[in-house]
Amino acid sequence: MTSTSTPNPYRTAQHQFDEAADILGLDERMRNLKMCEFEYIASFNFRVGGNWQRVTGYRVQHNTTMTPTKGGVRYHPDVNLDEVRALASWMTWKCALLDVPFGGAKGGISIDPSRLNDEELELLTRKYTRRMATVFDPQGDVPAPDLNTNERIMAWILDEYSKSQIKKDTVYEVVTGKPLDLGGSHGRKEATGRGVAHIGARAAADHGIDLQGAAVAVQGFGNVGSHASRYLAERGARIVAVSDVHGGVYDPQGLDVETLWEHAVVRRRPLSELGPGCRKVSNAELLELPVDLLIPAAMENQITRDNAPRLRARMIVEAANGPTTSDADHLLRERGIPVVPDILCNAGGVVVSYYEWQQNLNHETWSLETVNSGLMRQLDRAYEDTRDISRARKIDMRRAAMVLAIDRVARRTKMRGIFQ
Ligand code: NAD
Repeated sequence: MTSTSTPNPYRTAQHQFDEAADILGLDERMRNLKMCEFEYIASFNFRVGGNWQRVTGYRVQHNTTMTPTKGGVRYHPDVNLDEVRALASWMTWKCALLDVPFGGAKGGISIDPSRLNDEELELLTRKYTRRMATVFDPQGDVPAPDLNTNERIMAWILDEYSKSQIKKDTVYEVVTGKPLDLGGSHGRKEATGRGVAHIGARAAADHGIDLQGAAVAVQGFGNVGSHASRYLAERGARIVAVSDVHGGVYDPQGLDVETLWEHAVVRRRPLSELGPGCRKVSNAELLELPVDLLIPAAMENQITRDNAPRLRARMIVEAANGPTTSDADHLLRERGIPVVPDILCNAGGVVVSYYEWQQNLNHETWSLETVNSGLMRQLDRAYEDTRDISRARKIDMRRAAMVLAIDRVARRTKMRGIFQ
């Protein structure tokens, strides 16, 4: 982060809404769609390293025109109500854009999970789940993984939620992103990164960027960033820089993605510890490298009005949610650098979460081929719809995606009548 004051992501989300609402000419009532409908906050005691502390957990349901609402749960010290509100509203627009019949939600706990041992992490997850046991619901609100949460944590949510119910049956469909052996779906773990690579490749082709040998920098080599890097390398791109929270490595000739994978994903080591031949970069430096595609895949507010004038990427592919502030978005538009928006790029995860939920409800297991062909179909349709609106209305891809998504939700809201 290079900005002096941290922009509020909820304000960014609302600004994006307002811009699209102006284009659509939405009336006053429909403009309230930018507000969140339900907000749950739980504060509870939790012991870390023998010391008691007070921890706050959140769950926000932005829009329930379609249910269940859907969205990940994040563990991070910066989690706060406005961040969760922003992430929940982006989920609504993402689901609408991808034609996933869900509303948007998000959850989080304000804590640094790297300070917790395994037992503490499990206890934290179980306490949060107990507090949210009347909020989570297979037909009402279904959580999933996000930053610093994973399959193992989803398994604990499944177990704790199921135990909290009177019947004690295993309620597989209450959470997605579960391990394969516990009702998870083939292809879910890699779905978001797969989608980022696919949408990134399509957008690159439409903007005259040849993916063969294209230089790509990826900020954040977690679940999304690592899979996106792998799939882009498979398609012939050159991954020249990757980072994690501690910083990253850079080689203009291209890094070996399988070595990065082995080091960071399998052995769980920081990228900065990679061999002496690797040139180190900070996260701020990585964003300003001369590359064809820049893929922020970590956090919000990484591309700001401070560094946007210095960016040298030919295209930004937003794998993280909200990585670009509104000021930066305007600057990039002026500079003619296309930004492929988060609600399109990183939607692969929620699409396959929807497939996982369907499989659980119907006691089915779909093959990886079935999952991936459905995913590609939905991504392609959303990409082409967005691109067509962008061309027809002569607006950038973010506004086009928002126009499409908000129009769908507004039409459904009107059909449901005055109580909506
Ligand atoms: P993750 O926890 O698996 O990985 C996050 C990565 O970012 C790690 O490498 C971490 O070290 C790095 N990181 C964290 N803070 C950073 C910082 N300040 N600067 C640089 N790097 C930092 O998380 P993830 O699931 O890969 O999620 C990454 C982003 O993608 C988030 O914005 C998340 O909301 C979004 N997203 C995730 C999914 C999903 O299916 N997991 C779906 C859609 C969107």
